[in-house]
Amino acid sequence: MGVKVKKVKDKKTQEEVTVEDCEGGYDGEYVCHVNGCDAYMSFVHSYEQRRLERVITVPSFFKLKQNHKHSYKFCPYNTEGAVEVIARDSDPDVLRSLDDNKYEFSLQILHKPERSETTTEPRDGSIEYPSKKRLKGKTYTRKGTAPSYIKVLQQVLALRSELEEDNELASLIVLNYRGKKIKWDAFYFEEDQYISAYKLVENKKQKHPMCFQGVVSKLIPPTEKFKYWKIKLHSPYYELVDKVTPIPSIELVIADKELDPSEYTEGQRILAYGVVKTSVGEWVPPKERDKKEPKKIKFLNMSLWINHLEQIASLSP
Ligand SMILES: [Zn+2]
Repeated sequence: MGVKVKKVKDKKTQEEVTVEDCEGGYDGEYVCHVNGCDAYMSFVHSYEQRRLERVITVPSFFKLKQNHKHSYKFCPYNTEGAVEVIARDSDPDVLRSLDDNKYEFSLQILHKPERSETTTEPRDGSIEYPSKKRLKGKTYTRKGTAPSYIKVLQQVLALRSELEEDNELASLIVLNYRGKKIKWDAFYFEEDQYISAYKLVENKKQKHPMCFQGVVSKLIPPTEKFKYWKIKLHSPYYELVDKVTPIPSIELVIADKELDPSEYTEGQRILAYGVVKTSVGEWVPPKERDKKEPKKIKFLNMSLWINHLEQIASLSP
């Protein structure tokens, strides 16, 4: 459990050790690099994950040894402390403190904001978004959006993406959507869990927003028929054993004109948040086409509409 980190200290020498050192053969006993913490850490070497179209690499990292914890008092990697820091500055309507050091996070759907393009200073009451992804030479003001929500959302999701599992945040943050409790495993999905996201959306009328971690496989430019850019994520790998194999597929539809798709590249790990729309499509892979009984793929398509550029965040690889 705990946050994945890139450097530690050697327990004996107290010298800094990085993932590169360990990849180069360095071997020792490790503790957290934060002074006063000294939680026991272990090295996890980079490994490969097979995806539908290619193999991707999960880079090396250090993680907490089992049954060890970062110091609540001294260490920023302590999850409880990190949640407390987020809550301290957040709007209580978004992240509400409950008893027993727990918090309730109210999920919201981000709709397309009303937006006017101006070259003057924003007027009182309008919010200016500082963002490096903003297109050059233009100033936008947005009305009716929820900046306090977006801020907390990004902080919570960034923290979750650094953790190895849902459990730790689930014990600290309760998710709520319109008065209903949402489990973390019904909200946050990594590649291997995409299929359960599809099943959840397919079976339910009520659609709460969901979050997906994944790697960009393709950028698809707009066409005459479809006016938005799309970012496709890698699908998990499944062996084609049956006549028809269901495989989940995710694409992000970029409806926010401020978001410049060229900021994203193939192979980049990202986090995307939004409401999912589903559809299905059948496809026969080229190597199956000449066979008497070709094995087909049934794509379980999920489209995530990106109405605010803040719905996508880049992650370290
Ligand atoms: Zn620590």
